[in-house]
Amino acid sequence: MIIIGAGLGGLSAALRLAGAGRTVTVLEQAHGPGGRAGQAQQDGFTFDTGPTVLTMPQLIADALACVGEEIGDWLDLIPVEPAYRATFADGSALDVHTDVAQMAEAIRAFSGGADAAGYLRMVEFLRKLYDAERHDFIDRNIDSPLGLVTPSLAKLAAMGAFRRMDSKIASFLSDERVRRVFTFQALYAGVSPQQALAIYAVIAYLDTVGGVSFPRGGMHEVPLAMAGAAAKHGVDFRYGQRAEAIEIANGRAVAVRTASGERFAADAVIVNGDAPGAMRDLLPPDLVPARRLRRLQYSPSCVVLHVGSSGAMPDPAHHTISFGGAWTRTFTELIDRGELMSDPSLLITNPTHSDPALAPPGEHSYFVLFPAPNLEKAPLDWSVIGPRYRDEMIAVLDARGYGAIGQGSRSELLVTPGDWAAQGMAAGTPFAAAHTFAQTGPFRLSTAPTPIENLAFCGSHIQPGVGVPMVLLSGRLAAERLIGAVD
Ligand SMILES: Cc1cc2nc3c(=O)[nH]c(=O)nc-3n(C[C@H](O)[C@H](O)[C@H](O)COP(=O)(O)OP(=O)(O)OC[C@H]3O[C@@H](n4cnc5c(N)ncnc54)[C@H](O)[C@@H]3O)c2cc1C
Repeated sequence: MIIIGAGLGGLSAALRLAGAGRTVTVLEQAHGPGGRAGQAQQDGFTFDTGPTVLTMPQLIADALACVGEEIGDWLDLIPVEPAYRATFADGSALDVHTDVAQMAEAIRAFSGGADAAGYLRMVEFLRKLYDAERHDFIDRNIDSPLGLVTPSLAKLAAMGAFRRMDSKIASFLSDERVRRVFTFQALYAGVSPQQALAIYAVIAYLDTVGGVSFPRGGMHEVPLAMAGAAAKHGVDFRYGQRAEAIEIANGRAVAVRTASGERFAADAVIVNGDAPGAMRDLLPPDLVPARRLRRLQYSPSCVVLHVGSSGAMPDPAHHTISFGGAWTRTFTELIDRGELMSDPSLLITNPTHSDPALAPPGEHSYFVLFPAPNLEKAPLDWSVIGPRYRDEMIAVLDARGYGAIGQGSRSELLVTPGDWAAQGMAAGTPFAAAHTFAQTGPFRLSTAPTPIENLAFCGSHIQPGVGVPMVLLSGRLAAERLIGAVD
């Protein structure tokens, strides 16, 4: 079997197939595994260029277990506590603890007993939501809307899961600042808390209650571990091999041709590349779902400034979310109007807080993420505005009390929507198709989006969706489909 792409989705599929005794070759255009979960080494600093918030590591453990490997032998996961530090425009701050009792106490001290009690009720709601969603809606292939009609659907409707996320969370929490802490995650799914259905509050459950961890050595250790375990169990990784076409004969995928002129015969193929581009590049035109691809709505993108610095943040935490004063307006700017944020909310990740070895002794590394509109909403020329925006980011950090980051800057790497586009990501966003209702569950591209039954897709555009946990599941679902198709 051939897998095109060694992103987390492809690696998850490779482990599942190898565990089922299949012969697997992975063709990856880059010189190592990870895709978006990449890493840059610069001036003695190690920068993770992709995900920073790791939730549900049990899904990595599940993937490794397919080939009989233990996660503890491959990754040293450090719990991130607090999961986040939230800071607000009025100067207040709230640490987000995953221990529910500790968090209820923190909320009592921050905004009073009614919110603390409401938080406990909300956690109960999120727990039930997660239980109802996981097996029927997230963890399986859904080929038609009828596949949604399960007892869990009625349960979800009765719980209010199809109300808007912000009003549902507001029914538990009165303080607007606390509400933000449990609704900003809608942006991970490419929608605003005002538009999102409450079913997406499950994302807040994963990080604020399920917990956040960090692999010693950086997030890139995750794909390295998965690829290492897969190779140990016989998966053949061919790096520097760009797939150019999937050969179809008699209604089946029979081979993959690469830019180097090689032809890899296949009894089945999984594609892990960014689906819109990968479909157009690799499939014969009659198999490309062109109309569907044209209508995709994409998530907002982001600008990331990596800074290696001698400056220490005051009161450092692994993840700090600095909320601006504006809230609804921020989403309107990013999603509806395609504008840069006028009063930014941003994420500062400080990996050296958990693992000082990621910077030279006594120095620090920072990952500063500003959400930005995608290139379809705002076709900006980032090669021109990027350097100016970098200065703006540093000025915002300065104004929010984090001036030490820029003042001590020794090494920087700026990554913009223009760079994501250059890496082949549709609309210049690394967060794929948005999780609007019309692009979720059975309405999202399935792992089998073509009639070719030995050809599957996985990754963030595909069911169940975007983010590390979802693409790991997507790889597994794609593999399961193929094992069925070639048995
Ligand atoms: C800045 C940033 C921050 C993020 N933050 C978080 C976070 O905090 N938490 C979280 O859960 N998620 C986060 N994400 C999202 C998460 O990283 C992605 O959803 C996930 O890594 C995507 O994995 P994937 O399997 O879809 O594929 P990708 O990572 O896109 O991998 C696809 C692979 O296929 C290869 N490929 C493509 N075409 C070809 C071809 N023709 N031939 C050969 N190889 C090919 C590519 O080189 C690539 O290696 C973040 C992403 C970014 C970029």
